[in-house]
Amino acid sequence: MGRAPHGAAGRFAPSPTGDLHLGNLRTALVAWLSARAVGGRFVVRMEDLDRANSSSHHESLQLAALEWLGLDWDGPVVRQSDRFDLYFAAIDQLRQAGLVYDCWCTRREIREAVSAPHGPGTELGYTGRCRRLSGRERTERRGSGRPPALRFAATTAEVAGTDLMLGGVVGQPHDFVLRRNDGVPAYNMAVVFDDAAQNIGQVVRGDDLAHVVASQVALQRALGLATPAYAHVPLVLGPDGERLAKRHGAVTATELRERDFTSEVIVGKLAHGLGLTQGPEPLSAVELVASFRFPVARDPWVWAAEVPR
Ligand code: GLU
Repeated sequence: MGRAPHGAAGRFAPSPTGDLHLGNLRTALVAWLSARAVGGRFVVRMEDLDRANSSSHHESLQLAALEWLGLDWDGPVVRQSDRFDLYFAAIDQLRQAGLVYDCWCTRREIREAVSAPHGPGTELGYTGRCRRLSGRERTERRGSGRPPALRFAATTAEVAGTDLMLGGVVGQPHDFVLRRNDGVPAYNMAVVFDDAAQNIGQVVRGDDLAHVVASQVALQRALGLATPAYAHVPLVLGPDGERLAKRHGAVTATELRERDFTSEVIVGKLAHGLGLTQGPEPLSAVELVASFRFPVARDPWVWAAEVPR
């Protein structure tokens, strides 16, 4: 963690499972500004590992929303669904280093173990049970026919660093899943691999993902990859103080456009909420590049649906 190398690439990495809502647009704006402000490349990566819920329709909606907002990107859009072999090769590399183990635990078993008091918790409270199986237990599970997930054998060392939004942070790496038991590579594996492969110097994303940094840094170290700078941006809330959602009214890019909001009105409101401008006057994203710097506003931003001005 630390400073973004000058000129290093930034990225926006949505999952194409729906339209982009205001929270995504806000994160995308910050990611784009932080890359462009240092003359860096900006790439868009579709995190479409979830094959059941991802679609090219959602991808088109998301790309149209970025274009509408004036956020351009360099090079072709990368799709994680095209890159499974690369992730599997990285998992093999980890396996050769003794950092992968098979896990047969079901979600239910993991949930139950979490509710046990004082259990040593790892990912989602995962207790590392399958890491400690005896040879006989392992053979039994192999014979069960249930395919295992592959987990990262994390070290116990804490990871400390600086987040451009959150300041000094310390976290504990977890024994997270590298490959799910249906054979699909998991988020942490793919994101770490791709951020390095795309030479990403600054990872800007929603602060609901701040808790995965320690695990991702542990994986970078295990694979000999550089650690980018991180900036975790607060979420957007509805007027009731809850995370912005459909029930709060028009919140997706398409809905905002249908309600005749112009992109300049939205960028102006986002910029003001981020503390980048004195007032919510309409303006274009490119007008914000020269003066952009971290940190932006640290408080969650409340969106009260209103009529366009
Ligand atoms: N694909 C993730 C999401 O849409 C973002 C992952 C990331 O930026 O690291 O929430």
